[in-house]
Amino acid sequence: MIPRLKGTDDILPPQSERWRRLLRAFDDLAERYGYDLALMPAIESTELFSRGVGETTEVVEKQMYTFEDRGGRSVTLRPEFTAGIVRSYIESGGQGIVKLAAAGPQFRYEQPQKGRRRQFFQVDLEYLGESAPGADVEVIEFSYRLLEMVGVSGIGLRLNSIGDSADRVAYRNLLQEYLRQRQSDLSEDARRRIDSNPLRVLDSKADTEVVRDAPVPLDHLGPEAAQHFSRARSALDGLGIPYEIDPRLVRGLDYYNRTVFEFYSSSFEAAQSSLGGGGRYDPLAELIGSRHPVPAVGVAMGCDRIVHAMPGVAEHRLDLYVAVADHDLTPQATEWVSRLRQRGFKIDWDASASRSVKAQFKAANRCGAAAVAIVGSEWSRGLVSLKVLETGEERQVSVEEVEEWMKQR
Ligand code: AMP
Repeated sequence: MIPRLKGTDDILPPQSERWRRLLRAFDDLAERYGYDLALMPAIESTELFSRGVGETTEVVEKQMYTFEDRGGRSVTLRPEFTAGIVRSYIESGGQGIVKLAAAGPQFRYEQPQKGRRRQFFQVDLEYLGESAPGADVEVIEFSYRLLEMVGVSGIGLRLNSIGDSADRVAYRNLLQEYLRQRQSDLSEDARRRIDSNPLRVLDSKADTEVVRDAPVPLDHLGPEAAQHFSRARSALDGLGIPYEIDPRLVRGLDYYNRTVFEFYSSSFEAAQSSLGGGGRYDPLAELIGSRHPVPAVGVAMGCDRIVHAMPGVAEHRLDLYVAVADHDLTPQATEWVSRLRQRGFKIDWDASASRSVKAQFKAANRCGAAAVAIVGSEWSRGLVSLKVLETGEERQVSVEEVEEWMKQR
């Protein structure tokens, strides 16, 4: 027996039923909001992430699955979608507005625990080529509706603005000065970050004491970033999307500017409560080689965590299970099952053409069918026996009536 690797999961029934609902809801919403499908490589040049995500970020420093391929190139299993999608935008000409939706596994070498996996699955939206706050609002609204649609309870949204790169130069100096004064009270990681990435200290769990009094980017926004943020906020207010301002939210990756946000569920413990997040990342395209700026905003939602916050379903998975009482009627039953499936009904049956009716009823219950239709002696008169599993009610009906019943339930 060769077991699966630590931090990876086999997602199988019954849990996979929630995954199917989540992925369908994502696909459906993405189409409604005008996002095209993007299927991205799971492997990219290492440099894309070190330059794009940032050399001094946790992900690049400690978590990437990086190796040399047989041709001697350094390659990395993607730890996130954004850098690859922006790369594809630049590589395909990089013009105008492009709205993309992607779904797939990401890889980060984490200390595995519940909700923190080495291979985890994200659904992701990227709105490229638009600088207006309306784009930020759209990806935030989309994410909120997705969580609502799949039944996540206690949805919370933290929102912040970290300003533009230019605003950050002055702010960064101020923050560094403050952190240096408090150096002796800081964790070792935070001390190391004073020079390389002081902003990250703001979301350091080990340094809450020092961070509490630190200057925050929100108090140092330039006039344009401030206006952008206030417009985004009033649009969210207008849409009735509740949020709280979290001045210490900076998010882990380097490429963000202006709006940053994070969704959580209040029904989870804090450490793994983040269901997704994102923000505006206007500087990224130029960091990875675009000759002109590409304003953009995106979101990545963590499916492994969302499914834990989704309710199970009492609803039946199948409309009907077709049981065959007289095995000579198997060819007719085969054709009927096929016809019903082609009309869009969810049907299963016993393809063995050998089991007893009792065994077929067991199978019907196991696979969550709403009813069983028994194909038997009355078939030649166009009749089957329909048993509704929930109520136990059984009657002889025509095959047309079976369809009618399925349509109406
Ligand atoms: P990030 O790309 O780090 O902003 O993460 C976006 C979302 O992906 C988070 O809010 C989590 O829901 C999910 N996520 C990130 N890392 C992991 C992980 N190691 N295991 C499971 N989910 C994760």
